[in-house]
Amino acid sequence: MSNKNKTIHEFDFNFICEYFSRLERQGPGSPEATLKALGFIDNLTGQSCIADLGCGTGGQTRTLAAHVQGSVTGLDLFPDFIRIFNRQATQSGLQDRVEGIVGSMDKLPFAEEELDLIWSEGAIYNIGFERGLNEWRKFLKPGGYLAISESSWFTAERPEEIHRFWMDMYPEIDTIPNKIAQIQRAGYVPVASFILPESCWTEHYYAPQVPVQEMFLHQYPGNEAAAELVASLRHEEELYRRYKEFYGYVFYIAKKMEQ
Ligand code: SAM
Repeated sequence: MSNKNKTIHEFDFNFICEYFSRLERQGPGSPEATLKALGFIDNLTGQSCIADLGCGTGGQTRTLAAHVQGSVTGLDLFPDFIRIFNRQATQSGLQDRVEGIVGSMDKLPFAEEELDLIWSEGAIYNIGFERGLNEWRKFLKPGGYLAISESSWFTAERPEEIHRFWMDMYPEIDTIPNKIAQIQRAGYVPVASFILPESCWTEHYYAPQVPVQEMFLHQYPGNEAAAELVASLRHEEELYRRYKEFYGYVFYIAKKMEQ
């Protein structure tokens, strides 16, 4: 299989973790986008319980925690990401109310109606958007909020090449109106949605990868898996640059119905 046809999910997890551990973010986003989404949420106090699911090394969690009161639990499947998360929370002086735990978003370690806010940037796709919406709902208090970013189509139609790429990688990608209808069907009130600006991809996600890719190739000379991973990520970036008017990440903010 040529590396151009291989999706990120098919690479060795240890390699992926090592590569992404060196980055502040593991997906598109920015502190500005995190704070814009937070601006739609009005129920938080010092007693609030917040979970960031698929938190990675916690770039967005630290932004969030610096602007809310209450406790924040970051949850991620990969222990290396959580080790970095907890080290950086301590370095930022947030360790008393921010904690990273290893776990899976399909088996959440929270009580029913424990959470005031579920946050998840670029991660719900791991179990699928609709499944996540439905399964996570019971952990929210009535009136609690959900803020998630998710890959979405901007147009009803798109060129075949990018359509095929996404169908291979994440067939649940859909248009913004369809995503909002799914949110409503799952028992939430859609509060807001906005498209993440291009800089969330170019400046905050792809640009920091350039030196990491150089280091990675230098560290693993002649290693086919490392070369393939880097080639695949470069291909993904090239597709983004070519087709960015057709897709991107959208932040969806929703509120659990009171009853
Ligand atoms: N939220 C971070 C960000 O925006 O930078 C990370 C996004 S990254 C694209 C997706 C994250 O989901 C990774 O950190 C990955 O380890 C995590 N992940 C994958 N499957 C998971 C699962 N079943 N449960 C929890 N986290 C998972």
